[in-house]
Amino acid sequence: MIDPEILEELEGWEDDADDADDADDGWTVSGGEGSVGQGSAATGALVLVGTPIGNLGDLSPRAVDVLSNANVIYCEDTRHSRKLLTHAGISGVRLRSLHGHNEVDRIDEVIASVAGGRTVAVVSDAGMPGISDPGSRVVAAVAAAGLTISVIPGPSAGLAALVASGLSTERFCFEGFLPRSGKERRSRLTAVAEESRTTVLYEAPGRLAATLADLARQCGDDREVAVARELTKLHEEIWRGTAAGAASWASSMAVRGEVVIVLAGAPDVEVNEVGDGPLIEALEARLAAGERTRGAVDAVVAEFGIARRRVYALALAVRNDDPSPGAPPEGTR
Ligand code: SAM
Repeated sequence: MIDPEILEELEGWEDDADDADDADDGWTVSGGEGSVGQGSAATGALVLVGTPIGNLGDLSPRAVDVLSNANVIYCEDTRHSRKLLTHAGISGVRLRSLHGHNEVDRIDEVIASVAGGRTVAVVSDAGMPGISDPGSRVVAAVAAAGLTISVIPGPSAGLAALVASGLSTERFCFEGFLPRSGKERRSRLTAVAEESRTTVLYEAPGRLAATLADLARQCGDDREVAVARELTKLHEEIWRGTAAGAASWASSMAVRGEVVIVLAGAPDVEVNEVGDGPLIEALEARLAAGERTRGAVDAVVAEFGIARRRVYALALAVRNDDPSPGAPPEGTR
């Protein structure tokens, strides 16, 4: 239930709503208990509800209101969410599971409920549903059906880490979890290294050191990085430094808890600033030393901070010029 002091404050804002000076203060207090932004008691709505990423105090009064009054709450793990609801003093609301394996199967019943006038809440285990969590496919289907969707914003680890990282927040992108291995991981790492905006990545603690080492290799040792650990919890910590420093920090100990990596964007280097000469020289030296084409290209991209496409084309030209007999064709080294 809403803290009476907050209610009093909200009512104060509502009273002031007619005052022209306050007309565009950005606050909205419309709706009564359980109402959602666009929906009303008479029409159904799908409501995405943000929940804490560690600190139960971050469950908002509006979230409590909507969850208390929802006809059904879809959640990843009913036992986990039941604990949160109990903590918030909410009981008697029906819970249904919605996780990665059954999200698509749940779409029809969610649409039927919303179309039938019900308030259907969706939460995930932590943070915002749909952010590296289930929810987005149901939202897309409900939107396509022309039904009302609303959101009760709450914490999200990526945004919390970004704003606390000390890195640029002006332009950023969210990468979520990188693929674990293989070609897909390599190509995503390449794209992340070339990205000029700040990038936010999620990672499991056991894989942190390996991912930071990959990022250092791909982006260059000196790329700035922040690692936000256990945000909003007792052992909250934000490590800041270079990619190489982060990799060695993470490999020197067993990093525990949940982590977000925030990576500075690739430096803006004018293509024309670096001529082909130094790039060819660097590539030739690496290929002559026996490095594979891909490794040599990665290293030169990281060293000079320029587009991979250009370095790769130069590497191919260097290899075609290589008079040494038996130089294998591209793709076989
Ligand atoms: N939906 C969530 C959100 O909005 O942030 C993300 C869920 S995703 C399955 C879980 C990942 O989020 C973790 O592996 C970690 O990378 C990050 N994370 C969640 N809680 C965190 C916390 N308290 N501190 C740091 N990272 C956290």
